[in-house]
Amino acid sequence: MTETLTAVMLEDVDGKPKASFKSLTLADLPDHDVLVDVACSTVNYKDGLALTGKGKIARKLPMVCGVDLAGTVAESRSPDWRPGDRVVVNGWNLSETEWGGYIQKQRVKSEWLVRVPDAFTLAEAMAIGTAGYTAMLAVLALEQLGVRPDGREVLVTGAAGGVGSIAVALLAGLGYRVTASTGRAETLDYLKGLGATTIIDRGSLLEKGLPLQRERWAGAIDSVGGVTLANVIAQTARQGAVAVCGLAGGADLPGSVFPFILRGVSLAGIDSVLAPRAKRELAWARLATDLDRAKLDAMTTIAPFTQVFDLAEAIVKGQIRGRTVIDVRATLTA
Ligand code: NDP
Repeated sequence: MTETLTAVMLEDVDGKPKASFKSLTLADLPDHDVLVDVACSTVNYKDGLALTGKGKIARKLPMVCGVDLAGTVAESRSPDWRPGDRVVVNGWNLSETEWGGYIQKQRVKSEWLVRVPDAFTLAEAMAIGTAGYTAMLAVLALEQLGVRPDGREVLVTGAAGGVGSIAVALLAGLGYRVTASTGRAETLDYLKGLGATTIIDRGSLLEKGLPLQRERWAGAIDSVGGVTLANVIAQTARQGAVAVCGLAGGADLPGSVFPFILRGVSLAGIDSVLAPRAKRELAWARLATDLDRAKLDAMTTIAPFTQVFDLAEAIVKGQIRGRTVIDVRATLTA
C-alpha cells in the first residue's frame, strides 16, 4: 500500500503563497540521496514568517516548510550514512528552495546531514534546532574574537526567544556573567533559571542613543537588530565583540563607525543556513558538552503537528518563550 505523508505545504493560491496540510507520497519527494524518517521539527522565527506569509521565505512553490528536521536514516545511496543513523538538518535553504521538515519522511542531500550527538535525543536535537545551533555559532564567534568569561558582563538581547534562551544558557554554563534583555517582565524567573544574573528591559535599548555610550558589555549576542543593535554596539567595551544573529526588531543598523574605529569593537555576522559542515559539526559537538540538558528541557515545549499554524502566528508576535519542538508524527488524527 502506498504510504501517505502529511506535509505543511506552501502553494500558490490566487497569486499568493498559502500554507496548508497536504497529503503526499514518497514519489512526490525530491530525488536526493538520503531518505530520513523525520521524528520532529521545530518552530523558528523564520518558520513563523513562512507560514504566516509575513516574510517571503520560499523562493519556489510548491514548498514543504520547516527549516529543521531530526530523524533516522531510512535509506541511503551515500556511503557516509546508513539506515538507523540519527541525523539533523539545519538550514541548507530548507523551506526556501529545498523541501523541509514539516513532514514524516523527507529526502535530503547527504552533505546536509550532521550526526546527532549521543548526548541528545532527537526531540532535544530539535529543541536546539536552528535557533540553538545559531546561538552556539554566536558563542564560538565571540570566543574567536577574544571574549572570555572574565567577570565582565555579556549581553543577550531577545533573551526569552529561541536564540536568546539558548545563548543565555550556554554563556552562563561557560562561566560568563550574563545580562538578559527582554520585553517580557514575566520571564524574569525563567531567565534567571537559565543563568542570567541581571535582567534589563529591552525598552532601554529601543531609544536612539549617542554613537558612543558608557562601555558596559565585554560581548553581546543580538537577535533583535535595528536601534537595539546600534545601542548594543555603542555600549560595547574596548576590544569587545557583538555577534549579530537576527532582525526580530528590525533589519536596519542605524549606528556609526565610532565604536569600531575608536574602541576596536568587532561585529561578527552569524549565518547558520549555509555555514560549512566543519563549523556545524564543531557547533553540535560543543552543544553536546556545553549545554545543560536540564536547562534545555526547561525552555522546551513539545507540540503536535496540528498546532504548527498557531505557533507560527505566536512566534512572529514575539509570544513564544524558549523553544518549541513539533512532533510531526502526531498528525491530523491526534
Ligand atoms: P524568537 O521569536 O523565538 O525570539 C525573538 C525574540 O526577540 C523575542 O522572543 C523577543 O524577546 C525579541 N523581540 C521580538 N520582537 C521584538 C521587537 N520588536 N523589539 C525588540 N525585541 C523583540 O525568534 P528566534 O530566536 O527563532 O530568532 C530570533 C532572530 O534570529 C530572528 O530574527 C531570526 O530570523 C534570526 N535567526 C537568524 C539565524 C541566522 O542564521 N543568522 C538563525 C536563527 C534565527 P523578548 O520577549 O525576550 O524581548
